[in-house]
Amino acid sequence: MQAFSLIEPHDAQSAILAASTPGAKYIAGGTDLLQLAKDNVETPQRLIDLQGLPAAGIHASAGGLHLEPLARMSDVAEHRDVVARWPVLSQALLASASPQIRNMATMGGNLLQRTRCGYFRDTGFACNKRTPGSGCSAINGENRMLAILGTSDHCIASYPGDMGVALLALDARIELTSASGKRTVGIEEFHVVPGTTPDVETILTPGEMITGIDVPASAAAQRSHYLKVRDRTSFEFALVSAAVALDLDGRTIRGIRVAAGGVGTKPWRLPEVEAALTGRDADPATLKAAAEQAGAGAKPASMNAFKLVLLRRTVLRALQTVAA
Ligand code: SF4
Repeated sequence: MQAFSLIEPHDAQSAILAASTPGAKYIAGGTDLLQLAKDNVETPQRLIDLQGLPAAGIHASAGGLHLEPLARMSDVAEHRDVVARWPVLSQALLASASPQIRNMATMGGNLLQRTRCGYFRDTGFACNKRTPGSGCSAINGENRMLAILGTSDHCIASYPGDMGVALLALDARIELTSASGKRTVGIEEFHVVPGTTPDVETILTPGEMITGIDVPASAAAQRSHYLKVRDRTSFEFALVSAAVALDLDGRTIRGIRVAAGGVGTKPWRLPEVEAALTGRDADPATLKAAAEQAGAGAKPASMNAFKLVLLRRTVLRALQTVAA
């Protein structure tokens, strides 16, 4: 592990100023970053510890939910309003990691967790995401867990999170703050596909900080569901997951958002499924036909073609659950 200096600011402006130097990195719960630093995958020279900032609030109102960046996963998952009005978010958080990690990990850090591709986390292997230009060991290697959507010739790593998938189904927005001011972006724009620069995973600029997550209130949010399929239920990353938020008018689908995890290089929206459902009756045949559309444009690697089949079955089960 490389030696680093530790800065402990007490307000966001001081933190942003401290993070403006090269080699600086924010740390909050530290559940992902510390392991990566111990393995020399991340080598920050300066860590800006955000835990002293007063930014762990969870605010629910008639218009929506505002999450401050240091809110803990466990606190959000168990919040009474989140459980009742944004169930997909609570379910996704409870399906993530272990209770111990959920007690430490924060909302902001959760969005920024790095891929579980084994080659990325082992410095003995070539990896374009860790060392740009070194090659991708996974494309012709062990790739069962990796992505089938949004991949490139440079990287096929899957996005590992659950919460980001739920936030995509909920049409959340992310507030970002830098030395030059604030901006707000949709969750769909926040993560980026690898293309030729897999080391770039988000639109964050150097020193920019996540300062809030806003989730609108809606009938669809209230009728939402997260389904995660994994190798073991106790603690595992998704092979495939589906997040669905459904707005029904009687039995007619007035609106729907469908997102998937475990299959994309970022939280992956499924507009092909949404288009096959919007304006139609939520009957079994329609749901099944729509789920069969999931994964348009998928490019499986040598070991993960099963994910396309699993994605369609997972989406169907999630649709059946919210439409029941
Ligand atoms: Fe690295 Fe991406 Fe290839 Fe994994 S898939 S080895 S993260 S470049």
